[in-house]
Amino acid sequence: MKIANLSGRLVLIKDGKAVDVARASDGVFPADPQAVYERWAEFRAWASAVEDEGVPFDPADLGSPAPAPRQVLAIGLNYSEHAAESGFQVPDDLPPVFTKYASAITGPVTTVELPEGGHTDWEVELVVVIGSRAHRAEASWEHVAGLAVGQDLSERITQMVGPAPQFSLGKSFPGFAPIGPWLVTPDELDNPDDLELGSSINGEEMQKGRTSDLIFSVPALIARLSAVLPLLPGDVIFTGTPAGVGLGRTPQRWLAPGDELVSYVEGIGELRQTFVQGGQ
Ligand code: ZN
Repeated sequence: MKIANLSGRLVLIKDGKAVDVARASDGVFPADPQAVYERWAEFRAWASAVEDEGVPFDPADLGSPAPAPRQVLAIGLNYSEHAAESGFQVPDDLPPVFTKYASAITGPVTTVELPEGGHTDWEVELVVVIGSRAHRAEASWEHVAGLAVGQDLSERITQMVGPAPQFSLGKSFPGFAPIGPWLVTPDELDNPDDLELGSSINGEEMQKGRTSDLIFSVPALIARLSAVLPLLPGDVIFTGTPAGVGLGRTPQRWLAPGDELVSYVEGIGELRQTFVQGGQ
């Protein structure tokens, strides 16, 4: 099953067309895309029996399938080659965890302002959306509603300023958390633990990895994070980025005005960000 946020309304994607959920369910399920995760099991049962054909739509009108989560957890250094290019050791017990503040979340096709004087970098990531409350949960896919593509855009100067890293602020400028193009349930994928993901700038490949190389897999993250705090329906987890970011290149490279960044995850889809220079 695929669901999306089309102009702020929850839709079911069937054969490339969109079925408006509030209309098709006669209001049983509200139009708010974020609300569906509270009733995920009930919604899945309803969605499996929907017969509406849906209507064509413009991908430019898609928003994030989880536009207003209560919690966004983001994982650092979760691929060993990326840990090495960043100059860190591979984490063993617990990877670095930070947040991307929810105001940074956008849909899949956007124009992003580059912060003045910044070094803005790219990080393609598999994004997990939680479908049922998980607290002290076992390592499994049980609590996952579905998967999307995410970009963990990161302004490295802000990220590193001061005596301790400012990961959360440096990664939360407006538009720095595109998610989409839709949410795909794990059963749609041949092997949700082994998906190719990558990114390119102006057609030039920057990153290419596989989620089977995650140090902490999706089930392992659910267990490790929920050992500390409850994961709530609709929460978003950015699972970490593979090697090939601008910070790890020689010479280092940053996003520039006019660049077009494409990020993809196999079996899910792609994001497309165009960059312009922001003012002060
Ligand atoms: Zn990241």
